[in-house]
This record gives sequence, C-alpha cells and structure tokens, in this order.
Amino acid sequence: MSISILVFGNNNFRNTLPHQLHHVIAFNVEVMENLNQAVSYIQMTPPDIILVQASLDSSMELCNWLKEQTKLSWIYCILFEDRLQQLIDRKKYGWQKELEMTATALNQGADAYIWHLMDERTDHSLAELTANHGLILAQLNVGLRKAQKYRDLIRTNDLLSAIALADSLTQLNNRRALEWDLPRQIKKAKTQKTSLSLIILDVDHFKKVNDTYGHLVGDRLLQLLSQRLRHNLRSQDTAFRYGGEEFVILLANTTGEEALIVARRLNRVVSAEPFSLSNKQTINITISLGTACLEADDDEQGESLIHRADQCLLQAKTTGRNRVIDSKYLSHVPHLKAVSS
Ligand code: GH3
Ligand code: MG
Ligand code: MG
Repeated sequence: MSISILVFGNNNFRNTLPHQLHHVIAFNVEVMENLNQAVSYIQMTPPDIILVQASLDSSMELCNWLKEQTKLSWIYCILFEDRLQQLIDRKKYGWQKELEMTATALNQGADAYIWHLMDERTDHSLAELTANHGLILAQLNVGLRKAQKYRDLIRTNDLLSAIALADSLTQLNNRRALEWDLPRQIKKAKTQKTSLSLIILDVDHFKKVNDTYGHLVGDRLLQLLSQRLRHNLRSQDTAFRYGGEEFVILLANTTGEEALIVARRLNRVVSAEPFSLSNKQTINITISLGTACLEADDDEQGESLIHRADQCLLQAKTTGRNRVIDSKYLSHVPHLKAVSS
C-alpha cells in the first residue's frame, strides 16, 4: 500500500522532516505552500496524511477548511508548531503554554499537534530532538493505521453493497438494485434528453416446471435463463431479477422501437433452444414480455414506467403467452390504457 502525504509547507520545512519520509518508497510525498493549490489537490487526490507547517500564513485556514469537509474526515492532519514566538513562549512558560497551544490547534481542526524543535533558532538538546523525532514518527504511524482502517472499511463497504444488490441465485442485480438504479437512469435520461426503455418478462407456466421436475431443477433453469438473457443483451442494457421468475431489463439510450427489437430477440432466443440441465435432461420454456418507453410525464421513481410495461406483460399472458407486447399496442386498447394511466 502506498501512503500519500501532503506537506503543506515550504522546502526548508520539508527538509527538517524525518528522513524516513524522503526515502521510503511506500510514501508518495507532495509539497506545496499555496492554499488554493493545496485545496484543489486535496479535493482531486485526497492524501492519507497532511503535515501542516504552522508558520505558513494560511496553515490555520487549511486546518479549519479540512475540519469542515465531512467527506474527507478520515485524512489525518498533523500541525507542526514552528512559529518562533510560540517556541520561545513554550520554553519560557513550560507546560501551561504547551497545553493551551495544543488545545487551540486541536480545536482548529488538527488531529495532532507537534512542537517542531528542528529549527536552529531555538536551542534544544540532542535528547529533546531525538524524542521529538520519535513523536513525529509515532504520529505518522497513527495516520498510517487510520488510512489502513479506512481502506479496509471501503473494501468491506463495496463488498456489502455488491452483496446487497446482487441476487444470490442468478447473480443478476436484484430488485433493490433496480429501485436504486431506475430513478437515477430516469433523471439522467430527462436531463440529457435521451430515451430510456424497460422490458418486464416472466417465464410461462413455470409452476409446471417445478411441479414436474422439482424445485432444484427450477432453480437451475432460472440460472441458465439468466445467463442466456445476459449474453443476449447489449452493453447499455442491465438485467435485474425482479421477483421469482420475473425479470426487468433496463435499456439506456433506447427508444420504444429499439426496445421492441431487443424484446423480440430475447423471446426468440429463449424459445428457440431448449435448456440443457444435464446430458440427458433438456427443458423447453417460453417467456412473455412487456416493453415501455419513458414519457415526459412519467414519475421520477419509475412507477408509471414499470406499471406500463407490467400492463403489457399482463396482456401478453392473457393473449396466449410466448410473445411481446409494447405500450404502443396498449394505446390501441382503450380499456388497458385506462388501467395504466
Ligand atoms: P404464468 O405463465 O402465468 O406466469 O404461469 P407461472 O406458472 O409461471 O406463474 P405462477 O405465478 O403461477 O408461478 C410462478 C412460479 O415460480 C411459482 C413459484 O413456485 C415459482 N418460483 C418463484 N421463484 C422461484 C425460485 O426461486 N425457484 C423456483 N424453483 N421456483 C420459483
Ligand atoms: Mg410465470
Ligand atoms: Mg411470475
């Protein structure tokens, strides 16, 4: 793991930092002293640790800004006190000054506050300098641990999201994924003025498959069907398992006419070839499909769009199954149009 460190300070300051920082390959160190430059760098490539030189004009401003960035709260910010007056005061007043200054720095947004004794203007013993050096390395270790934990958390989060949005039987996206994706696709289509279509499909007489061959064969058939559907979709199409033996295909950048072509192809590829469950066992199934295209007055959640496609699926079932009905057709059937509006 490469740890990225931003040094907000000048080159002299950088040169007084522990040599480990300059030589270890695991560190990717950037040095800058301009506030705007540092802020845009942090926004674009957030580092794991920021080392801030207190004597720089905008150092407190940077700490304050960081404190307000809730999305960047995992960055570990170490403020190095190198202001001459503070160093002198600390020597003069001792503990009390040190505690006051530490409290101020932490309140301003730093995660750690370190007295930077490397300045030759202040006179420190070798023992003090060595102890200070040790403290800097220890604080860097705290930052590294925090970055490691943060990365582990992100990985776990990604994994959990993938599990939460995947259907365990078919490995397709599940209904929750559709509920998450559909409003986003609708918003995108409306703002970019592109088309969006949806197909709902359901296996015909699937209960008979379960009753004849058993539930496990039914499960395997659903897996094979999912694979076949996936292999026959275009890159912009996404398949979801909507429930039991019902699936939804979301087709980005696709008009109603194009969706109808895709649906007819799916209908054909399912019925044309039986599904091989083993060398000895093949099963023929068919599917019924309904298609709908996004319209200007459809709601943002996609309920009316799904409802329209669902009405078409219902119509496909009631008119004999193993067919595609699209919502254009519904418009020619007044009583069905009334149901869908
Ligand atoms: P239709 O043509 O009207 O759709 O008839 P159908 O038999 O497919 O419809 P119905 O709703 O009566 O039955 C769907 C069946 O799908 C019932 C249920 O047991 C089965 N099913 C749902 N989910 C699963 C699953 O995960 N595995 C298996 N093996 N069967 C499932
Ligand atoms: Mg069915
Ligand atoms: Mg069903």
